Amino acid sequence: MTGISDSRSPRKKLLIVGSGPAGLSIGRLCAEAGCDVRIVEQRDHIAGNCYDEPDEHGVLVHRYGPHYFRTWSKDLLDWLSRFTEWIPGRYYVRACVNGELVPMPVSLSTMTALKGRAFSESEFREYLAQQREVFESPQNAEEQCLAHVGRELYELLFRNYTTKQWGISPRELAASVTARIPLRFDWDERYLNEEYQVMPKRGYTALYSNMADHPNLRIETKVALDEAQIRAERKHVDAIVYTGPLDAMFGCRFGALGYRSLRFEYEHHAGMQFVQPCVQINYPNEHAYTRTVEIKHVTQQQIPGTTLCFEYPEEEGDPFYPLLINEHRERRERYKALADAEREQDCPIYFVGRLAEYKYYNMDQVLLRAIDVAHEILQGWR
Ligand SMILES: Cc1cc2nc3c(=O)[nH]c(=O)nc-3n(C[C@H](O)[C@H](O)[C@H](O)COP(=O)(O)OP(=O)(O)OC[C@H]3O[C@@H](n4cnc5c(N)ncnc54)[C@H](O)[C@@H]3O)c2cc1C
Repeated sequence: MTGISDSRSPRKKLLIVGSGPAGLSIGRLCAEAGCDVRIVEQRDHIAGNCYDEPDEHGVLVHRYGPHYFRTWSKDLLDWLSRFTEWIPGRYYVRACVNGELVPMPVSLSTMTALKGRAFSESEFREYLAQQREVFESPQNAEEQCLAHVGRELYELLFRNYTTKQWGISPRELAASVTARIPLRFDWDERYLNEEYQVMPKRGYTALYSNMADHPNLRIETKVALDEAQIRAERKHVDAIVYTGPLDAMFGCRFGALGYRSLRFEYEHHAGMQFVQPCVQINYPNEHAYTRTVEIKHVTQQQIPGTTLCFEYPEEEGDPFYPLLINEHRERRERYKALADAEREQDCPIYFVGRLAEYKYYNMDQVLLRAIDVAHEILQGWR
């Protein structure tokens, strides 16, 4: 990328609020283009929710839930490869059903494990045709599930998991929450579908530290900027990228946007290589936790001992999953109109990322979006 500043025009100044994937990727691209980039981060670390670190036993853990990197975009993978080497993403998930571990998502392997006999593709299709319930247009997550997988699989694998995860009945959740439940008509037991499934060799914090390492980019951690402070910064910079909560930037004037949170409990097992057979086990029925994660299966860390993380869905805590119910969707649209207007000002504010757009993005999606915004910012300055 060519520089956007030369001796005739002063260097453009960019303030970025938040040092997650969105903030850091925009910061890096703009720094490389010659801008003076300042990133402020309220936490005491960078990398947002992708942050990982060794626990007190030296086992690398993902502090905000397991992050499985996957993408269809070779270009994105190539760009990120400037900041990390990769190891294969061994993303395998089982669900614990009546004490048995069955592969997820539902495939011929799952049906075989559940039914105790081999299931062919045609038998699985026939099974679904019998089980599926007819809804002209599913109105909620339960109807969507019943239309897609039928009552038996819904009850065994999805009903309680979804209820625990969201703290409300699937009947109150938008159909889109369960709309994309994948079904496989083969024996593929991988959890994800994307072509590229990898894990940064030294973890996400190392990847994002390398991305942040540029002479035109500086980061201040433990600095939280509120709405008034961000607006006041307009006098000092040419543009602002905001990756914090959408509602907070407008004093929550239309009411708060709701989130579901998680509590993480860790259990270390000294001297054991692994305690479960794969990285993630879902608990769709018994237990208050939804899943247990042993990330060492993916990080492939060579270390004695392992750490298991139990995830408990919570109402309060870090904002993790946007609540996909109508009330919050409508509120989001009203805030979004205000956010769009901020972008038209002399010193524009760009709202980017999962909090600022109140949208569940996977890492690759948020990075692709952020790269687009970086190009838009730079384009406007040429
Ligand atoms: C439990 C969980 C599991 C996930 N698993 C996966 C996965 O397996 N694969 C995948 O691809 N994606 C996964 N994701 C999604 C992934 O975490 C996000 O796509 C990504 O973190 C979004 O990046 P972001 O920069 O938009 O937001 P964040 O990572 O949330 O970063 C925003 C940063 O801004 C800071 N900030 C906010 N407001 C302010 C303020 N006012 N002042 C200063 N700093 C502020 C925050 O502290 C935070 O560090 C998961 C998410 C969660 C919650």
